Amino acid sequence: MSGIGKGVATSSIGRILKSKGLVVTAIKIDPYINVDAGTMNPTEHGEVFVLDDGYETDQDMGNYERFLGETIYSINYMTTGRVYQEIIRRERNLEYKGKNVEVVPHVPLEVLRRIKEAQKNAKADVTIVEVGGTIGEYQNIIFLEAARMLKHESPVDVAVVMLSYVPIPSNIGEMKTKPTQYASRELNSAGLQADVILARATMPIDQKRKEKIATFCNVLPERVISAPDVESIYDVPGNYEKDGLGDILLEVLRLPKRRTDLSAWSAFVRKSKQAKKEITIAVVGKYFDSGSFTLSDVYISVLEAIKTAGYHQGIKTKLVYLNSKDFESGKLPYTELSKYAGVLVPGGFGETGVEGIIGAIRYVREHQIPYFGLCYGMQLMVIEYARNVAGLKGAHTAEIHPQAPHPVIHVMLDQKDKLTKNDYGGTMRLGTYPCKLRSNTLASAAYGKNKIAERHRHRYEVNNAYVGKLTEAGLVFSGVSPDHKLMEIAELPKEAHPFFLGTQFHPEFLSRPLEPHPLFMAFLKSAAEKWKTR
Ligand code: GLN
Repeated sequence: MSGIGKGVATSSIGRILKSKGLVVTAIKIDPYINVDAGTMNPTEHGEVFVLDDGYETDQDMGNYERFLGETIYSINYMTTGRVYQEIIRRERNLEYKGKNVEVVPHVPLEVLRRIKEAQKNAKADVTIVEVGGTIGEYQNIIFLEAARMLKHESPVDVAVVMLSYVPIPSNIGEMKTKPTQYASRELNSAGLQADVILARATMPIDQKRKEKIATFCNVLPERVISAPDVESIYDVPGNYEKDGLGDILLEVLRLPKRRTDLSAWSAFVRKSKQAKKEITIAVVGKYFDSGSFTLSDVYISVLEAIKTAGYHQGIKTKLVYLNSKDFESGKLPYTELSKYAGVLVPGGFGETGVEGIIGAIRYVREHQIPYFGLCYGMQLMVIEYARNVAGLKGAHTAEIHPQAPHPVIHVMLDQKDKLTKNDYGGTMRLGTYPCKLRSNTLASAAYGKNKIAERHRHRYEVNNAYVGKLTEAGLVFSGVSPDHKLMEIAELPKEAHPFFLGTQFHPEFLSRPLEPHPLFMAFLKSAAEKWKTR
């Protein structure tokens, strides 16, 4: 069933197997027609996660990378749309040599081809494939068919894990296994038999229910694994291990026994629980419109990056989301910002709420409150500085105001054409690019080196015609592309502000629990220090 944590389950299985010394990779199958997640509205679908090679994917890929500590590539992500697109491309190229191209077997065969290629690409001992959606859904039947074919092809190399929800209806107060029994039959009707069942419930599943599920779902009772609600998603691998999931999977896959060494992971989990210094960071953004439930999903990587950086410094960070439209309407005064140890503006697109964000940036700049701007957050920071310090009245981004008197942010040259042709899917500047850092800056101090590479997702950039004026006014471009053409990081010197820094890239995509991102570390450090003295 969707929404009960398949992504975290997949990631956790990955971490466990990696902790056994195996090379692991993970694949996500999303059953929708969109070719990638790039054109989806974040308030509907959550964050768009960008891979190293520039592919725009579902936020689950972020979980995989964070839990596995591995870089994952575009071949590891497929949607129905992407699979069909490839099949149709091949058909047009006569690659099927005049044969009838049919949903079965050609679609599952293409799915399997991709799975095998991803495995080969990662040189993985174990490849975990997460099939999105719910068993019995019309949309994912074709992917289950692929799984069946794979199991048929090499029975001992495939383990089927079913994640099932075990409800405890409040009027009965008892754990009910019927939905799991039906789900298991539904899986059987697709020609698949679960080897392991992860029983998701609010509490650990008892022996009696394990046996019941075992009897009715054809699995061994010890292969029914408790998956109770936990305080943090990072507790999940340790929790599965309590039921011996790693060893069970090796057994199913007929792999030799290996010890699980979760010590590095557990040390991080311990740090996260021991972090005591509390600070609150305000995230000022604009995608907060669809009720408070999707909030954390829209910026999930940012949130994880902040929290992780905190844990590594003994800081427990609380996040408060402020809708920039409330600053514009006057519902929230800018002085509200003085309640926070730091302010972060994440990425975004379009006009709504932008003036509120610019106002907020002005306030934190003038009041020495640590500021961290990501992508749009950097562009708006440059606009604020241009307008209020460099004296460039009416400075703006061409994204919103193409005729602005001072387009300090303008469209990237190679993006112009794409925009006139309404070519929006997968056409931004995407993925990892190198960047050179200037010595003696906040950026170079944070990274501790002068050459970095970070992931991008943008169409607009700092207009080089204004770099001179902005620099004269005191803004430092501390990170630039190796050819010096693209401003990647802007900051104020330490003498002028404790931490005022924005990046054209998205550092949040490279932060991992065991390797916190240097810029998030530096931002939080400064926020915590400044907070002590305020
Ligand atoms: N809208 C801006 C651009 O396209 C910023 C994008 C972002 O924040 N990811 O350049």
